[in-house]
Amino acid sequence: MGKEKKTIKTIKIDLDKCNGCRACEMICSAFHAAPKYSSNNPARSRIRMIRDPIRDVYVPVYAGEFTASECMGRDKYVIDGKEYDECGFCRASCPSRNVFKEPDSGLPLKCDMCEGEEKPLCVKWCLNEALIYEEREEEVEEEVKAEDVEIGLGSLIDKYGLEKIADTVARMSMAKKG
Ligand code: SF4
Ligand code: SF4
Repeated sequence: MGKEKKTIKTIKIDLDKCNGCRACEMICSAFHAAPKYSSNNPARSRIRMIRDPIRDVYVPVYAGEFTASECMGRDKYVIDGKEYDECGFCRASCPSRNVFKEPDSGLPLKCDMCEGEEKPLCVKWCLNEALIYEEREEEVEEEVKAEDVEIGLGSLIDKYGLEKIADTVARMSMAKKG
C-alpha cells in the first residue's frame, strides 16, 4: 500500500503566558455565530478559559470529542504547587459538566480549527502569544477506500462465485480469532 501526506495541525498552549483575558473565547463564539460575527457568547465557544485568579490558574481548553458517559474517576493535577480543578484539562463534552455544549440545543461543540481560515482565529487574537499554531506533514499509510474493496470483491465474486468467497472469508476470520 502507498503512503500519503497528512497535515497535522497543532495549537501549543503556553500556560505561563495566558492571563485569562478570554479574547480567544470571544472570537471563537463570534466566528461560529449564525450569521458569522452576528453575536458573541462565550458559552458557544470551542475554547474555554478555566480560570481562578486567586490561585493564579488560567487554562485554555479546546473542545474535543463528545462522550456519552462520564469517566469512572476524576483527574486532578498539581503543577508547580498549583492545584487545578477536577477535569480541568479535559477536552470532552460529557454529561458531568456544562462546558462544550451549545447553550440552546445542548448539542456538543467541537473545535474545527476555524475551517477555511488560514490560521485559527483564537491564535490570531491571543495578544499574549499563549496559543501557538504549528503545522507539520506526516506520511501515513494510504487509506483503502470502501469502493476499491467493493470493486476487488466484485471481481473475485465474478470469478469464484459468492458462496465460495463467503466460505473463504468465514474460514479466514475463524482462523484469525483462533
Ligand atoms: S481554532 Fe477556531 S474553532 Fe478552534 S477554538 Fe480556536 S477559534 Fe475556536
Ligand atoms: S486570548 Fe490568550 S491570554 Fe487570553 S484567555 Fe485566551 S489563551 Fe489566554
